[in-house]
Amino acid sequence: RGKVTLSVSMRVYGEGMKLVLSQDITERERADTMRRDFVANVSHELRTPLTVLSGFIETLANLPLTDVERRRVLDLMGQQTQRMQTLVSDLLTLAQLEGSPRPAPDQWVSVGKLLQMAESDARTLSQGKHELSFSSDGPAEVAGAESELLSALTNLVTNAVRYTPQGGRIDVSWKMRPNGSGEFLIRDTGIGIEKEHIPRLTERFYRVDGSRSRETGGTGLGLSIVKHVVQRHSGELDVQSEPGKGSQFRFVLPPLRVRAAAQRDAG
Ligand code: ADP
Repeated sequence: RGKVTLSVSMRVYGEGMKLVLSQDITERERADTMRRDFVANVSHELRTPLTVLSGFIETLANLPLTDVERRRVLDLMGQQTQRMQTLVSDLLTLAQLEGSPRPAPDQWVSVGKLLQMAESDARTLSQGKHELSFSSDGPAEVAGAESELLSALTNLVTNAVRYTPQGGRIDVSWKMRPNGSGEFLIRDTGIGIEKEHIPRLTERFYRVDGSRSRETGGTGLGLSIVKHVVQRHSGELDVQSEPGKGSQFRFVLPPLRVRAAAQRDAG
């Protein structure tokens, strides 16, 4: 009797082990695949501008160009260099977000200041081609890391500008909700996003339309950065969109990280 019991329990135990082990391997395989994809993506994203740059260097070295032509080539080289700088800076931001502890909810950041800084970036990018509106239902503060929150908000707002044709409208607002949470709402009247892409938007380098994203200076990392920042602040990100009509991104922060602030003179 004793022997039978033992063999049964050993078998069960053995299967349990096998199950855990194979789950572990699948998890590791997935992580490996993701890492390989990531390195391949980064290499590709960096190689493209480098190829263009070396072509231009050859042009400058070998062709007798007029001053105007030389100027044009240098401008294009500047654009490619800028593209690589933005990519490297986004990669560093992601690496920092993944490698550092969550920001404690004891640093309070002014929502007004975040909105102001995001607005300034949006206006620079839009160059007067869109109707932009920034508003808040009252002075408030959110708890977290200022640079991260700003990066998330700026990414959402600059995306709205990037994916909205000239003449479109972008509304950015903050409001406190009755349960004490607060939300940034970023709405645009841009190209919108087909439903099937929405769940994948925050994956690194995921783009609905690669050439449009690159043309407008996108790295494909923006929403991945946003996702990390939102998670690190115990928040939620909600995306709604209608192709051809526009998109709406909602960044909600929990009550613990939101408080009304006293009205102060901006001076
Ligand atoms: P990118 O640098 O390419 O903008 P993101 O990670 O910020 O990368 O966004 C991923 C993709 O999601 C974009 O390439 C674009 O296709 C889509 N997207 C993001 N924001 C918007 C928006 N407001 N309207 C339409 N499409 C958007």
